[in-house]
Amino acid sequence: MIPYGRQDISEDDLRAVEAVLKSDFLTQGPVVPAFERAVADWCGAAHGVAVNSATSALHVACMALGLGPGDVLWTVPNTFVASANCAIYCGGTVDFVDIDPVRFTMCPKALAAKLKAAAAAGRLPKIIVPVHLCGQSADMAAIGTLARTYGVKVIEDASHAIGATYLGQPIGDCRYSDICVFSFHPVKIITTAEGGLATTQDAGLARAMELARSHGITREADEMTHAPDGPWYYQQVTLGYNYRMTEMQAALGLSQMTRLPSMVARRAELAARYHRLLADLPLTVPVQAPDTASSWHLYVVQVDPARHRAVFEGLRAQGIGVNLHYIPVHTQPYYAAMGFTPGMFPVSEGYYARAISIPLYFGLTDAAQDQVVAALRQVL
Ligand SMILES: *Cc1c(COP(=O)(O)O)cnc(C)c1O
Repeated sequence: MIPYGRQDISEDDLRAVEAVLKSDFLTQGPVVPAFERAVADWCGAAHGVAVNSATSALHVACMALGLGPGDVLWTVPNTFVASANCAIYCGGTVDFVDIDPVRFTMCPKALAAKLKAAAAAGRLPKIIVPVHLCGQSADMAAIGTLARTYGVKVIEDASHAIGATYLGQPIGDCRYSDICVFSFHPVKIITTAEGGLATTQDAGLARAMELARSHGITREADEMTHAPDGPWYYQQVTLGYNYRMTEMQAALGLSQMTRLPSMVARRAELAARYHRLLADLPLTVPVQAPDTASSWHLYVVQVDPARHRAVFEGLRAQGIGVNLHYIPVHTQPYYAAMGFTPGMFPVSEGYYARAISIPLYFGLTDAAQDQVVAALRQVL
């Protein structure tokens, strides 16, 4: 089976993890801060907060922005469930904004209309979460302008998009957002096995996320309610979790970061090759907006909805590990029980009816890619 995505582990990665295993610290040592610095510097962000998954990063980001009971978070339906669940963790509720029919990311027009209606009804969301689908940035200038106009916070779900750029600048610099979240799950661009990281330009938000990832405990005297009892002293000043990243994970991530440009370059090369090889087939290849350079996390083709399932099954039967990103979140039973129904977000639902993610990852050889193309040609 040729998978739709997979990690690439080098000898240097192995040595970096081994060095940590032989060191004094398996967790809470010097490598996590070094990894945070490396990612933040890459993005041009002042702060990076590493955690054990992007799901945790979304949660601590919502906590830092003060989402709580009575508050609403808006995201897109065509995302992984974690983009929405983070609001529920905080006692908030979720609503959705449909995607645009070109880049399939949060539609600024739909957002503008929904914000206008919500403002009139006195029910503005506290946070919106655009998702950089497949590694292509959402239209952040438009989204950021709307958010500022209505006083709404923005978390970018950039789980797909480390190494991508928007208007020539790296995703993660938070020019149009408060916080940007990356995932390092093995199918994503770089990996730490499990892992995530939130970037921000705001020191207060970074500190709030640090507290949230580690029990709400501080050892900083100026954050305590009184002078420390002694050198052993710490205080729990808020409620937090254990969402810490380990030193082994950070070592893997730090080593992988050195290869980020080559990883994204190879993905872009494979994507360009797919564009060429698939040009004459009855399917739609992904379109890149001129203001973005995708990290090419996924290569999603769209086929005739009437043949969608047959094409998907035909590819799987030929050993091509295709996948589908995403089942619209509002149609999941958990969200349907909140009153969401099919038909509410037609662009996302239409995309779901046509989309197939075909294999794309750093280690995919030209020969294996040719096999994918031959299988698609045969099935179609
Ligand atoms: C992978 C992913 C997540 C969750 O990432 P984890 O690191 O597995 O928690 C969240 N949002 C999107 C869009 C993703 O693709």
